[in-house]
Amino acid sequence: MKNVVLLGSTGSIGTSTVKVVEDLPDRIRLLALAAGNNSELLLDQARKHQPAAISISEPAKAQALRDAVGTAIEVYSGNEGLLKLATLPAADIVLIAIVGTAGLQPALAAIRAGKDIAVASKEILVMAGEIVMNEARQHGVRVLAVDSEHSAIFQCLDGKPASFVRKLWLTASGGPFRDAALWPKEKFSEITVERALKHPSWVMGRKITIDSATLFNKGLEMIEARWLFDVEMPRVGVVVHPQSVVHSMVEFVDGSLIAQLSTPDMCLPIQYALTYPDRAASDRVQTDFPKIGCLTFEEPDPERFPALSLARRAGEIGGTLPAVLNAANEIAVEAFVNRRINFPQITATVSATMAAHSVVAHPTLKQILEADAWARSETGKITNGK
Ligand code: MG
Repeated sequence: MKNVVLLGSTGSIGTSTVKVVEDLPDRIRLLALAAGNNSELLLDQARKHQPAAISISEPAKAQALRDAVGTAIEVYSGNEGLLKLATLPAADIVLIAIVGTAGLQPALAAIRAGKDIAVASKEILVMAGEIVMNEARQHGVRVLAVDSEHSAIFQCLDGKPASFVRKLWLTASGGPFRDAALWPKEKFSEITVERALKHPSWVMGRKITIDSATLFNKGLEMIEARWLFDVEMPRVGVVVHPQSVVHSMVEFVDGSLIAQLSTPDMCLPIQYALTYPDRAASDRVQTDFPKIGCLTFEEPDPERFPALSLARRAGEIGGTLPAVLNAANEIAVEAFVNRRINFPQITATVSATMAAHSVVAHPTLKQILEADAWARSETGKITNGK
């Protein structure tokens, strides 16, 4: 039985994780659950799964939860609650699916407490990949990927060292504006929030859906891959694959390529992270090749999607620049969703913030968080001026 701490239990990844746990009651136990604002769903989950502890962001909501769950479940709140849950002595693995930077400290706390971590929050490796991977090596714990692409690469690598790799190929659906005939560059400024929120193959949270439309999501994944698999940025490639059946590929030095395929369902990479190194029987995911018919691949368009080259530059220069890219993008997406800037201005704003940043090489966590705060304020100034 694996004891899982789930940080971010009410979001898209969190609810899929709960489904996986329900599929495998003999293998996985939800030891603890943390949620942001949705205390009603957290309460439902707690009643059903009877974890040892739960935590809610807002301290004001903790008392009502305490009254509702009784004494068998400890109730915590805030960042302190996340740290408490991430380091519970009985925890085997901590799955971090919290939006934003709030997952960073609990991830490091879990590693230092000797726990394996499963990472769904991109910020953790994008902002602090070097620190997180170094700490994981020092403490002898695993950093497992929950993202479908990184899970695919992890499965394809199957323990082979980076020296066997010619290139990692992340696949991208291309998002809703992939088709250059339907969406030429001139039309990008007319893209509405509603249109950008319609993703062709995945149902996800709002921020990540916009990131899939700009391809910033893939850019962040490139930086994550660089750290998770210890390869330099030039060995991380992106290919557009609209069917989202090939989840990613590894090209080995002998020219052989290994890919991982299935119909898209986030439950699969989540289950693999939670059952690794085992494979657990589940009927949830079925792949029908004749029905899929064909799989196609194309080059990403750098003109319409400059996010990829911005992310490549951030990953190559490293230091505090990936944290700046990430924070600037978060603020720019918020400004787009609130209709203060148009769609192409998301990448333009990120680019301007990156250009204004003085990069700190091999930063400490404190310097990373300072760069994050600086980028938020700088991007805020730019987007508020529009
Ligand atoms: Mg992904």
